[in-house]
Amino acid sequence: MPSSSPDLALAQAQKILREAFGHREFRPPQDAIVTRLIGGGDALVLMPTGGGKSLCYQIPALARPGTAIVISPLIALMDDQVQALQRRGIAAAALHSAANAPDAIEHRLRAGALRILYCAPERLLQERMLRLLRELSISLFAIDEAHCVAQWGHHFRPEYRQLGRLRALFPGVPRIALTASADLASRAEIQQSLALGNAQVFVQSFDRPNIRYRIEQGSGAREALAEFLRRQRGAGIVYCLSRRKVEETASWLQSVGYRAQPYHAGLPADQRSAHQIDFLSGKIQIMVATIAFGMGIDKADVRFVAHLNLPKSIEAYYQETGRAGRDGKPAEAWMHYSLQDLLLLRQMIQQSGASSEQRCAEEERLQAMLDLTEEVGCRRQKLLGYFGEKLDQPCGNCDNCLHAPPLWDASEAAQMALSAAYRSGQRCGVQHLIDILIGRDTPRVRQAQHHRLQVFGIGRRLPPRDWQQVFRHLLARGHLQPHPEGSGLILHASSRPILRKEQRIWLRSGTANTCSPEPGRRSWRERRSR
Ligand code: ADP
Ligand code: MG
Repeated sequence: MPSSSPDLALAQAQKILREAFGHREFRPPQDAIVTRLIGGGDALVLMPTGGGKSLCYQIPALARPGTAIVISPLIALMDDQVQALQRRGIAAAALHSAANAPDAIEHRLRAGALRILYCAPERLLQERMLRLLRELSISLFAIDEAHCVAQWGHHFRPEYRQLGRLRALFPGVPRIALTASADLASRAEIQQSLALGNAQVFVQSFDRPNIRYRIEQGSGAREALAEFLRRQRGAGIVYCLSRRKVEETASWLQSVGYRAQPYHAGLPADQRSAHQIDFLSGKIQIMVATIAFGMGIDKADVRFVAHLNLPKSIEAYYQETGRAGRDGKPAEAWMHYSLQDLLLLRQMIQQSGASSEQRCAEEERLQAMLDLTEEVGCRRQKLLGYFGEKLDQPCGNCDNCLHAPPLWDASEAAQMALSAAYRSGQRCGVQHLIDILIGRDTPRVRQAQHHRLQVFGIGRRLPPRDWQQVFRHLLARGHLQPHPEGSGLILHASSRPILRKEQRIWLRSGTANTCSPEPGRRSWRERRSR
């Protein structure tokens, strides 16, 4: 029977943890989560990969009477978990499109002989299946990888959105949703579409204190990588955006004496797995890979993850850098990117064939990633802030904390940029506004009579690249926003203090091969070192 008191429930859970799973103690907040579920309450769990989400539902499944239903998006994940449970003597099975003997599984389900049933969402949502389950005793529903409900996401599964129906169909059966992707937007979307309004939210810190974050921008990626690798002793992954760049980088690293191999989805399967085995065993030091490499790679002593490109979102950056230092020892997350990457990623988004709403969401994610790269304060605070987590002190261990970056005062430029947007009627895009500011007499400028504006040419002392940085910053912070319908940028109320000179803006200088300051430019492109 489910225990009525939380103390009893915890004692029961600890017994199962030890006896059925062979672990000595819970990792907080596992204990609070299992107690909540055993007591019949709903939960939303946000925990980084490897944090131990499975036990959060497997233990209540064994503590409560009936069969637990676990919804999971991937056949391989389901099969792995079922095998692990069966090895521990727990009656578990999986129902999905590739399941062995589904009839026999259903038979055991009807007989109440299964403690845990893993189920693909489309299978669960078949009316026949729902009817069957309503006749049985169900201990709980667990919705794993719950970020699959998020429409903008890369893992979107339309069936996941229907799982909210479970609430009305199975009143009184506790539900738990779990995910490692925890930005605030997806959290709200999960809660809303899974009808988890009454769920208690459990967040395990996403901080990885042993990882040192460093982000550099500029050209000359190879030299920068060579310099970075000179100081690395252990194993590491170098991520590149394209297969071609993976191949080129791997051959170059081999030619300068590194034990490196490429990995991407275009390689023959046997070659891929050979390289993977060599990396896991330590026979090669460096895996040069696209993001195809990494999911489910279990190597605790990866000492560094290097990015030679800009990842397309903070989630992706966090996941990829998170493969470093799983053993808790010091590890490095190093990135070197160029503005070229940004243009390429933008192009990929625009040409992706996704709906305009999705493209907008992807743009926002990319923008947030850029915001992290341009951060002049603590990277860790910024990164965790994205996941809704507040770090009270700067970490003291990221590039910015260790060496405060040189900054330039962009307040006046930001003011000019906002004025230009305003005076041109809030109908122009970034490039057009830069043309106006530096006084470029393009046909578009002339046609719109923008060469007559007061702001025409007032920013010619700053190179276009710096103007792009200014606009990127204004967009990233939301002071300028894309026009909701049609093109152009509009001013947000938050831009007022900048226009009134009440708010100063400092941007990172020396980025993206910024040329040396021209004579006469130094005065207002004043540099400062903190
Ligand atoms: P997630 O789903 O959050 O990525 P898993 O549930 O797969 O993580 O767990 C990751 C690893 O942590 C597994 O090997 C699991 O056995 C181990 N683990 C989970 N909880 C504990 C615990 N309380 N004590 C020891 N090991 C644990
Ligand atoms: Mg998991």
